[in-house]
Amino acid sequence: MLNLIFFGPPGVGKGTQAVKVAKHYNLVHVSTGDILRAEIKLETELGLRVRDVIASGELVSDELLIQILESTCEKHKEADGFIFDGFPRTLRQAEALDEMMTHANLKVTMVVSLVVPENEVLRRLVNRAIEQGRTDDTEEVIKNRLTVYHRHTKPLIDYYKKRDLYIEVPGEGTIEHVFKSLCRVIDHR
Ligand code: ADP
Repeated sequence: MLNLIFFGPPGVGKGTQAVKVAKHYNLVHVSTGDILRAEIKLETELGLRVRDVIASGELVSDELLIQILESTCEKHKEADGFIFDGFPRTLRQAEALDEMMTHANLKVTMVVSLVVPENEVLRRLVNRAIEQGRTDDTEEVIKNRLTVYHRHTKPLIDYYKKRDLYIEVPGEGTIEHVFKSLCRVIDHR
């Protein structure tokens, strides 16, 4: 089984690559951002609860995310593996994921971080805001999401480095080029 975590700040292209990698290796793509946005669109109770938090660029509570993750993984017991995109984002989430994996007799295979210079990240996020009209892609909110990333999520790099699971892949160049670099790293695991 192949269980990957795609890591990195907003705008590095995790989502785009995660879709391609999931298809190539037959993995279940778990994008917590997509799951939450779908709930908002359907105006479910959960969606209404998280809408304002997401629009402000802050993180949704760990409890909620952990519940979402558990029920998503529960639905895919027969999977060849998972690719987690946008999760974990806090130390608590990382610990919860570890517990879940241990409980299911599984392991995180590797944590792949896409690395892109910050000015390029900003440029991409602003472009996406224009193309997709995401409510959390205004300049102010983008800046807040980057701050939240640096404060809560970036410290996880050390958490995974200590477990010898962390690897960086350059995220610049064409989508196809980055995809090939990722496959090379994954195949040499
Ligand atoms: P990005 O484009 O920044 O990678 P995502 O699409 O992954 O963003 O997530 C969008 C928003 O959804 C986040 O800013 C956050 O509010 C919420 N969210 C997604 N995943 C998580 C998580 N694991 N923990 C807390 N909040 C989350």
